[in-house]
Amino acid sequence: MPSLFDARAESILTQLRDSGQYKMLQMIEGPMDATVRLRGYGECLCFCSNNYLGLANHPEVVEAGIKGLRDYGAGTASVRFICGTFTPHETLERTIARMMGTESSYTFVSAWTAAEALFPTLCEPGDTIISDELNHACLIDSIRLATTIKKGVHKAVYRNNVLEGEKSLRAALEAARANRDATGQVWVVTDGVFSMEGSIADLPAMRKMCDEYGALLVVDDSHGHGVMGARGRGTHEHFGMIDELVPGATPLRGENAARSAAPNAGRVDLFTGTLGKALGGGAGGFIAAGRRAIDLVVQRGRPTLFSNALPCTVACSANAAIEIMLREPQRVQRLKDNVAYARRKIGEAGFDVLKSPTAICPIIVHDTARAIAMSRRLLELGVFVIGFGYPVVPEGHARLRVQISAAHTTEHIDRLVDALRKL
Ligand SMILES: *Cc1c(COP(=O)(O)O)cnc(C)c1O
Repeated sequence: MPSLFDARAESILTQLRDSGQYKMLQMIEGPMDATVRLRGYGECLCFCSNNYLGLANHPEVVEAGIKGLRDYGAGTASVRFICGTFTPHETLERTIARMMGTESSYTFVSAWTAAEALFPTLCEPGDTIISDELNHACLIDSIRLATTIKKGVHKAVYRNNVLEGEKSLRAALEAARANRDATGQVWVVTDGVFSMEGSIADLPAMRKMCDEYGALLVVDDSHGHGVMGARGRGTHEHFGMIDELVPGATPLRGENAARSAAPNAGRVDLFTGTLGKALGGGAGGFIAAGRRAIDLVVQRGRPTLFSNALPCTVACSANAAIEIMLREPQRVQRLKDNVAYARRKIGEAGFDVLKSPTAICPIIVHDTARAIAMSRRLLELGVFVIGFGYPVVPEGHARLRVQISAAHTTEHIDRLVDALRKL
């Protein structure tokens, strides 16, 4: 007789299949690049990876990983604080801090884990966490965990990117100020780049507002690294919220003039980010912040006290990826040129593509079944793009999410648009 669980699981899975929400995993038979070899479809153009700078299969990134494996073996067989910290972890954490313009950073096996370490470790009863409604699931779960394990941590949600008026960030900050039980630190948290919209948070305005209320600003910039700013450092760089040149990086043309002319937009207090997208694409995440926050995470973060570090191979390849990004700003520029070209061409083909400077180009097709059918047809045409529908995005807002990479050529983008025209 099937267990209660088996019967229930079967019914849930059947329901997913019947409603068209059941996900089929595509098997990729070679490295991630502008094109990928897909089992059953052959070589396809890849427009659904977060490999924004094309570094996932860069020879230097691969070699650094192999060297890491040779020099340090498979891993530490320990958590960080016992005997689980290799020198490449320290090197990578210094590189990340240098890239982000923060005092310090600490790495994790994923950005998900980094987020999980953040609020439950740093918040105390009386604190309030204010979150954008479209924030990534890892932030939402981190807030849920913080409010569950530390009674007296408050939370509030504001409408996506709405800073003034009803259900806005300001309204949440005012409510926190009025709440007699909320006497602690206020934290405002947002994605830098929203993954389904490709839109960006207005960080300078948020910084200003946070300053008015004594709140800290936390940004998860997983889709911003490699993409935003002249050097791909993130959404804060895009807004000029980082004023030093990066030590060791190639100077950009006119950089000094541009920097001194930029208004002082203030700083982001804490970042989380991933190494599993533009920055090598293997795995791993980080918190980048001031030394006190990082020290507390090292001392008290449960994911770092009770779980292993990033594998050394990945730490080495991620470090190489960041160094390449800082050294070759033309790679970031190439991505920006590709993004501008793709948005223009997709628009000219008659599709409704959301405007933004990010590498995420959602094409709104409204109906979920239509989005899924279109992505299936694109695969038959040799183009790998994923359709997202309800419940990942609201009903009626189904979309194809096209993601552009510096690895794409204009010919690749032309072929994408040709395939879209055939739909
Ligand atoms: C992808 C993503 C993550 C998760 O990154 P992992 O390193 O794969 O855990 C977290 N936050 C945001 C905003 C993301 O886009």
